Amino acid sequence: MNYDIKKYRSDFPILSREVYGKPLVYFDNGATTQKPKSVIDSISDYYSRYNSNIHRGVHHLSQKASFAYENARATVQKHINANSANEIIFTRGTTESINLVAYSFLRNRLTPGDEILITEMEHHSNILPWQSLCEEKGAVLRIVPVNDNGELEIASLQKLLSPKTKFFAFTHVSNTLGTINQAKEIIELAHAANITVLVDGAQAIPHMQVDVQDLNCDFYCFSAHKIYGPTGIGALYVKEDILNDMIPYQTGGGTIKTVSFEKTVYVDGPLKFEAGTPNIEGAIGFAKALDYVNEIGMENIAMHEHKLLVYATEKMKAIPAMRIIGTAKEKAGVISFVVGKIHPFDLGTILDQQGIAVRTGHHCTQPLMERFGVPGTVRVSFGLYNTKEEVDLFIMALEKALKMLS
Ligand code: PLP
Repeated sequence: MNYDIKKYRSDFPILSREVYGKPLVYFDNGATTQKPKSVIDSISDYYSRYNSNIHRGVHHLSQKASFAYENARATVQKHINANSANEIIFTRGTTESINLVAYSFLRNRLTPGDEILITEMEHHSNILPWQSLCEEKGAVLRIVPVNDNGELEIASLQKLLSPKTKFFAFTHVSNTLGTINQAKEIIELAHAANITVLVDGAQAIPHMQVDVQDLNCDFYCFSAHKIYGPTGIGALYVKEDILNDMIPYQTGGGTIKTVSFEKTVYVDGPLKFEAGTPNIEGAIGFAKALDYVNEIGMENIAMHEHKLLVYATEKMKAIPAMRIIGTAKEKAGVISFVVGKIHPFDLGTILDQQGIAVRTGHHCTQPLMERFGVPGTVRVSFGLYNTKEEVDLFIMALEKALKMLS
């Protein structure tokens, strides 16, 4: 594999900065990724050369901006191999996408006693919208447990799929454990029981090639900022026949065919769900980010990150009292850990002083923390630009921190 890491690193301006006089080692990619210059420039270019509102203007700038926005939708469609650009709704990100599905799809279909199924490894963003819908409708939230390695218990899942189950939402990759769920097989099981499925792809999208037609999911959502794009924009994939049957999440300008004081007729397709002036520069930057990763190749990125995962895991296992939380067979480049009784926050602070950016805490997965009996973890998460040398720096910094704290 010809993986030109030097070149890729030079594409990201922030990677050349120092923190506290030390070279930055950015291992917090699960929270958000850094942005390549092409993404940063595309946003500046939009504001410098063709800033204008979209879809409603006949003038040159508006047409150019509208084209770029719709072109971005087509880029997202191709990236995940959706059947049509009409199946892609731009949202603020994964969290808004899940809320949109809860409101626009499920809310009117749920009756008291129905069940929504999620898993024990979900991010709060894939728990709260369903929990609140259950409270409102008198429905029941059911949970698929994880085993000690952090893998879903498929036998329990099979038992939980019942005629009462109206919806199943699960994460493709766990942001805390790194577990890659066997999404295609899981979706097949749910569909065999006539259950509609949403996949939270927030942590899968930066690490692997996603093909929604192959997965055959009904909904798939992700955020641009986790795949080297801007914050405040993301995408929700919805199978077209389902999308056409959904009510708008928010109403307003841009969503309509005709409006009178007596009646409004909404447009068909994704625009029905994009009320108001959207995040135009976000969509443009999002598409640039997808172009960027596709130039490198998602499979090459996955392979590179897998090597880092194996290398770092081996080195970490050699540290006394190290407990890695999440030891699934299939993992993305995410390692959560605790060492003895040392508080993750203390470790994170000392690592930061040495230029190493990691995340500490519950990672918006409090029920999962409870499952593993820890208040929080330190989490290392890799991106396409990380190196083995950075892993070495991290291990040295970690050993130093442990000496200071014990
Ligand atoms: N789902 C998972 C698995 C995540 O890791 C995250 C963010 O960390 C989200 C959902 C929420 O994403 P966002 O904050 O971009 O909406």
